[in-house]
Amino acid sequence: MALDFDLTEEHQMLRKMVRNFAEKEIAPVAQELDDKEEFSYHLTKRMGELGLFGPFVSEEYGGSNMGYLSYIIAVEEIARIDGSQAATLAAGNSLGISPIYYYGNEEQKRQWLPDLCAGKALASFGLTEPNAGSDAGASRTTAVLEGDYWVINGSKIFITNSTTEISKVCVVQAVTGKREDGRNELSCILVPNGTPGFITKTMHGKMVWRASNTGELYFQDCKVPKENLLGRRGDGFHQMLATLDGGRLSIA
Ligand SMILES: Cc1cc2nc3c(=O)[nH]c(=O)nc-3n(C[C@H](O)[C@H](O)[C@H](O)COP(=O)(O)OP(=O)(O)OC[C@H]3O[C@@H](n4cnc5c(N)ncnc54)[C@H](O)[C@@H]3O)c2cc1C
Repeated sequence: MALDFDLTEEHQMLRKMVRNFAEKEIAPVAQELDDKEEFSYHLTKRMGELGLFGPFVSEEYGGSNMGYLSYIIAVEEIARIDGSQAATLAAGNSLGISPIYYYGNEEQKRQWLPDLCAGKALASFGLTEPNAGSDAGASRTTAVLEGDYWVINGSKIFITNSTTEISKVCVVQAVTGKREDGRNELSCILVPNGTPGFITKTMHGKMVWRASNTGELYFQDCKVPKENLLGRRGDGFHQMLATLDGGRLSIA
């Protein structure tokens, strides 16, 4: 059977709609936002209103359930006009929404996804550290289970969508123990912005994507309930690699 690579009528309509939005609403302000290194709350909200956050998320969690191809078409059309807004959208979806959607429990999904899919909130993905970039398993940030809380210490760098006024939660990869083979056990933990001991600092001076938000994050005895673990303890490395695989679809 021959594969059909043609876009459906729905995909073509979506492309037209997003192209129209990007040309009419993003193009006139893109240069100024870039010059000022200014994150746009308005355009983020508009992308949410158009259903571009959570296109692969089912409707019961506030997504538009249009599928991955629709998501890629949307990012492609926005990147055609402005890389910064495309980065906000791509990271918001692949790095912010998808780990919660694919690995979160029912309560976590109901707590975070509706506002994330509406473009009213952003989630970030805290993997990279000053000494752990390409080698994503080299994280040094630790999370120690003390009673009913994870106590997190360490730092992250270059984290997209992490320091805006609508940045509500970060999925943080941390070392939570040692595995039987002697390697670090890595787990992902949801850390809401504003938690005491979670300090954020906006980074400036990027050469590209200057209007997308990038932050440095510091965790100093930051305590979150043990229920904030995402998925199973020790699954963090697998979750992160799978999330990055999804991210490559839109970043490419
Ligand atoms: C704008 C922006 C947004 C980002 N957003 C996020 C985010 O939301 N969340 C997040 O966790 N991270 C984010 N990152 C971080 C990004 O994932 C890292 O920059 C990336 O993983 C590379 O890590 P590094 O910068 O430490 O470079 P390094 O790992 O130090 O690499 C530097 C260079 O050395 C090369 N290199 C590294 N190791 C080897 C090797 N073993 N052999 C040969 N060559 C090698 C690399 O290819 C690269 O060219 C972002 C980065 C940027 C710039």
